Amino acid sequence: MDHFLYRDGELHAEDVVLRDIAAAVGTPFYCYSTATLTRHYQLFTDALSPLRHLVCFAVKANSNIAVLKHLGDLGAGMDVVSVGEYLRARAAGVPGERIVFSGVGKTREEMRIALEGGIRQFNVESEPELEALSEVAAGMGATAPIALRVNPDVDARTHEKIATGRKEDKFGVPIARASEIYARAAALPGLQVVGIDMHIGSQLTDLAPFEAAYTRMADLTRALRAEGHRIERLDLGGGLGIPYTRSNEAPPLPTDYGAMVKRVLGDLDCEVEIEPGRLIAGNAGVLVAQVIYRKEGEGRDFLILDAAMNDLIRPAMYGAHHDIVPLIEPEAGAPLAPVDIVGPVCETGDTFARQRPMPPLAAGDLVAFRSAGAYGAVMSSEYNSRPLIPEVLVCGDHFAVIRARPTFDEMLARDTFPAWM
Ligand SMILES: *Cc1c(COP(=O)(O)O)cnc(C)c1O
Repeated sequence: MDHFLYRDGELHAEDVVLRDIAAAVGTPFYCYSTATLTRHYQLFTDALSPLRHLVCFAVKANSNIAVLKHLGDLGAGMDVVSVGEYLRARAAGVPGERIVFSGVGKTREEMRIALEGGIRQFNVESEPELEALSEVAAGMGATAPIALRVNPDVDARTHEKIATGRKEDKFGVPIARASEIYARAAALPGLQVVGIDMHIGSQLTDLAPFEAAYTRMADLTRALRAEGHRIERLDLGGGLGIPYTRSNEAPPLPTDYGAMVKRVLGDLDCEVEIEPGRLIAGNAGVLVAQVIYRKEGEGRDFLILDAAMNDLIRPAMYGAHHDIVPLIEPEAGAPLAPVDIVGPVCETGDTFARQRPMPPLAAGDLVAFRSAGAYGAVMSSEYNSRPLIPEVLVCGDHFAVIRARPTFDEMLARDTFPAWM
């Protein structure tokens, strides 16, 4: 459930009319709902209770510091995959002891900054990384708490580009070698083993792959404990999918997920960490755009929007579907006709939807892309020299710009001429 609903014929974000935000900030823009973020965070923390747990929001899904601050103030931890994300979480007021550092390519500089600033744990993904972290920590006279990211060799049965837990994927260490690598970690200076980490993929619509992975994690916990390691935390990763179409069969709910986690891992006396990104932020955001032209092509019509693939790349990158709805509610029984919905970028890939049945829409009309709160703004670029679009946060009946649209001058000022010109 989200808080983007039609009321009195107008699409609202909570109690704010989206058209009013468009009038104030211009289009296109992202808009997030505080109440939806709260609700989704709360669903997870309730689902895992009474297990000791920490819900670490995956910052890569939506890294605006106002969004992070809202979640952090609710008690969320953060899962970061770069020092840039780490610094965003810190800027949002999240203490280091609630920040988990994931990612296959942490540099020594990133390790040093996180150790200095405080960190809950590093999720280490390879032996070379283990050795680098040991050197950095020992050199600083520090101790780095670590979990090894173990690849359980489970197929998450999701999109090719976001499956991460098969043995051919670049992530983690093979589960068959975990025992050997934990022994190595225990012998290295500057490291303290605290747990085990997994993350098998994103947009999972079925609990079975999670259950298969967590069952392996439970077995590994017992085996590593028998070998003398202290396994106190289990990081289960993120990945629970969201419904992108309302007709789709519904993915599992956090409550079902929580019940499964308790059944599979509940008797291990570990603190559980989960790293949801999409399920917290996805349906908490929309992208609002304006129709620039309606163009009649040969055999098909095009709606050309002022938003493009640089603003929301998921359709071009993953073939992803987003529901696209008018801000003014169509009349009941309004005829639907198929149109191609595209952006202005000079690539055919800049297509949001092909032959999508839509109510009548003309130049000047506003539309909202639903489920755009995760992997939307964070993946945007200035391709075609289109400045990054603003982000707006709604809370009840008020809203604020939480990232302003840069001016063209600001965009141009980042480039410089070399001295010889
Ligand atoms: C991407 C990622 C997540 C979040 O995945 P969602 O599908 O957004 O829940 C969590 N943990 C790690 C390590 C990730 O790479």
